[in-house]
Amino acid sequence: MNRRYRKTIIAGNWKMNKTATETKKFAEELKVILPKAKWCDVVVCVPFVNIPAALRAFKDMRVAIGAENVFYEKSGAYTGEVSADMLKDLGVKYVIIGHSERRQYFGETDVIVNKKVQAVLEAGMHPIICVGESLEQREMGVTMDLITLQIKSALAGIPAEKVRKCVIAYEPIWAIGTGKTATAEQANEVCNGIRTTIRHLYGARVARSVTIQYGGSMNPKNAEELLAQPDVDGGLIGGAALKPDQFVEIINAANQE
Ligand code: PEP
Repeated sequence: MNRRYRKTIIAGNWKMNKTATETKKFAEELKVILPKAKWCDVVVCVPFVNIPAALRAFKDMRVAIGAENVFYEKSGAYTGEVSADMLKDLGVKYVIIGHSERRQYFGETDVIVNKKVQAVLEAGMHPIICVGESLEQREMGVTMDLITLQIKSALAGIPAEKVRKCVIAYEPIWAIGTGKTATAEQANEVCNGIRTTIRHLYGARVARSVTIQYGGSMNPKNAEELLAQPDVDGGLIGGAALKPDQFVEIINAANQE
């Protein structure tokens, strides 16, 4: 973390979990244990249908609501899709884009990721852009090449002032939902590499202002060490974000001086 130059952001990714009723219950439980003073921003990304319930339930808690996906067109004949303007109008602040599960199960390519990033920025929200390598790619030694490519593609055509509004989440695929975490050194090495890529593209000022999270089995036990790394500016958290007590423990780890 480096709070002098950029925000620390702890974001939960609920994936396809919890009903609207369970969303309300989670928020009520969280409210009791959430620290009043927060040195990090807290975001909860929920399924589309739960967004109105989440906005109601988390108001007064300084918890921003995020979506887990978006479609890049503004409107039209795209049955079943949801636009960035629709999310913005509801009060959504963040949108996860390019999560490995969307890349793997729904054919989301780097080109699609870029279109979605543009749409989210144009609507005035913050994209949380997910990048990460598979175990095979790590073992082949191509992690940084692949991630550099993912970053360059995701940010193609985006001007510096908008890149500052982007959050990047480094999520090694082999660590998501597996209980295997990248070591703090591995996480920092890649987050630092991402910052270097942004520096080459946009200069030092932009690079140092971008929040770069780590995601992949972050939990109350490993959060403190991961978040103590200079280039790890928060976490994108799946499993542990579904339980209020675990989520708060991670927020507390990010609250340390
Ligand atoms: C995620 O889905 O973004 C994630 C990091 O999941 P988990 O924390 O469960 O590994």
